[in-house]
Amino acid sequence: MTGAPPGFAVLVVGAGFAGLYAHHRLRALGLTIQGFEAAADVGGTWWWNRYPGARCDVESMDYCYSFSPELEQDWTWSERYATQPEILRYLNHVADRFDLRRDIQFDTRVTAATWDEAAQRWRVVTDRGDRVSAQFLVMATGCLSQAKDPEIDGIETFDGEIFHTGRWPHEGVDFTGRRVGVIGTGSSGIQSIPVIARQAAHLTVFQRTPNFTMPAKNAPLDQQAIADRKARAREIREAMRASRAGIVVPMPEHSALGVDDESREALYARAWDTGTLYGMVAAFNDLLINRDANDTAAEYVRARIRSIVDDPEVAERLSPRNHPFGTKRPCLDTDYYATYNRENVTLVDVRETPIVAVTPTGVRTSADDFELDAIVFATGFDAMTGPLLGPDFTGAHGRKLRDRWAAGPRTYLGIATAGFPNLFIVTGPGSPSVLVNMAVAIEHHVDWMADCIAYLRQRGLASIDATTEAEDAWVDHVNEVANVTLFPHANSWYMGANVPGKPRVFMPYIGGFPRYDDVCRGVAADDYRGFTLTPATSPEPAPST
Ligand SMILES: Cc1cc2nc3c(=O)[nH]c(=O)nc-3n(C[C@H](O)[C@H](O)[C@H](O)COP(=O)(O)OP(=O)(O)OC[C@H]3O[C@@H](n4cnc5c(N)ncnc54)[C@H](O)[C@@H]3O)c2cc1C
Repeated sequence: MTGAPPGFAVLVVGAGFAGLYAHHRLRALGLTIQGFEAAADVGGTWWWNRYPGARCDVESMDYCYSFSPELEQDWTWSERYATQPEILRYLNHVADRFDLRRDIQFDTRVTAATWDEAAQRWRVVTDRGDRVSAQFLVMATGCLSQAKDPEIDGIETFDGEIFHTGRWPHEGVDFTGRRVGVIGTGSSGIQSIPVIARQAAHLTVFQRTPNFTMPAKNAPLDQQAIADRKARAREIREAMRASRAGIVVPMPEHSALGVDDESREALYARAWDTGTLYGMVAAFNDLLINRDANDTAAEYVRARIRSIVDDPEVAERLSPRNHPFGTKRPCLDTDYYATYNRENVTLVDVRETPIVAVTPTGVRTSADDFELDAIVFATGFDAMTGPLLGPDFTGAHGRKLRDRWAAGPRTYLGIATAGFPNLFIVTGPGSPSVLVNMAVAIEHHVDWMADCIAYLRQRGLASIDATTEAEDAWVDHVNEVANVTLFPHANSWYMGANVPGKPRVFMPYIGGFPRYDDVCRGVAADDYRGFTLTPATSPEPAPST
């Protein structure tokens, strides 16, 4: 872009599930839109995370858009849990079908945004030198888009190759005949480890925290299941939106402590066999709030691990004992535990023998040197706040977002943050986001924002800003509902615990999607209760804006 800074009605940052839908929805309002995306194309999570074994863990037929019934009928998923290439194909199809690339500039990262009080606009700068202004700024930058590198000395000295699951090379990586180390056993590690193990000459897994993972029971979708689903698509979508986690899950009625051992065991066995994230968590109604109840689920999974893994010592090392079941994001896998029965796989517990350094030839722990040709960092993300604190945001009165959130993120509804007018965050901290089916959460947020922007423009209002009082009350509520649960007891990325120095705050809203939706609707219906709405200072807005 050259010449005078162009002005737009809305700037959308990010072109994943959220950014794409934001373009579609906002364009329908007749607004001028500019999009910026750091990646070279659309897809977000599914553009970046191309590691072997990457796939969704919410079922494909649920993990997709609902805004277009025609799209829903035309697109057919091939597997119960789609692979990364298939999800990326889907998002490309959506971008083509609705002509969404038109306003997006790729390979461009937003580096700073400053609220211009006089003009009531955001002034935005990118790493390619673009300078644009927009009345509204929509951060569709994702919760899990800032890959987190491990803090280990000597990484730069390694003679072999280094990969991060969240920035995987597009041409793929062939590990055949190589000695590979995987550092990290969260979701990406658990998905990739079995696949890498089948290829590599030897795989060494460096595990700090064992995670609870359940078999995905992935399979091709049969034609009948697809036809049934399409026939009931609208009805199911409504049920999804009315459900706690954006997925239709039967609500459990019983406490895990209110049934005898045999019945409990039988229920867990059925839940385990559902091959879903929620099966086990939803087996009883108190697993996430009562530690004794939770222990029964945790012990069930540990017994499963012991039954799969041949070596009792390895089984014990793989058994999570330092966090309640379900309080770190549980994982779905294909042959994860069985992978440790392979002769070419070694598990290293880095709590017992910490990694001291990466050396030119591999990884050194306090006990051993492991010679490696390649190292894979499956170390996850600076979740939720990372992508929002990356750019240098300056709000009203010169206030920096980094300062405002120094003790942890503060938002109203996870959508707005006081002192940063007209800044909308899609699935931000303080919203259900990562605790629910994100396809549902994203559509919900984008719809709410688009309705809000339409409301403001219809009334000639220049800006909307959350009040500190409304924000404080929301933050208190988010904490209050989190503290009723066992979630804050885990050192999870939900708590920011995977990033040294990050404030320990439970970031997502755990009150359930319907309750959250009710609040959001109520706020909008009450003329945006909790926000300050400011009329335009100049009578005539600029033509393109
Ligand atoms: C491996 C993996 C599997 C997952 N599986 C599931 C699942 O099964 N179900 C589920 O509900 N969720 C899942 N998730 C969560 C997933 O992130 C969301 O479902 C969804 O893809 C998020 O979409 P988004 O558009 O909000 O963000 P993203 O897809 O993360 O897109 C954000 C985009 O913003 C861009 N961006 C960020 N900052 C800037 C900047 N400053 N300037 C320009 N561009 C920027 C990024 O490059 C990125 O492309 C998974 C996540 C991962 C990593």
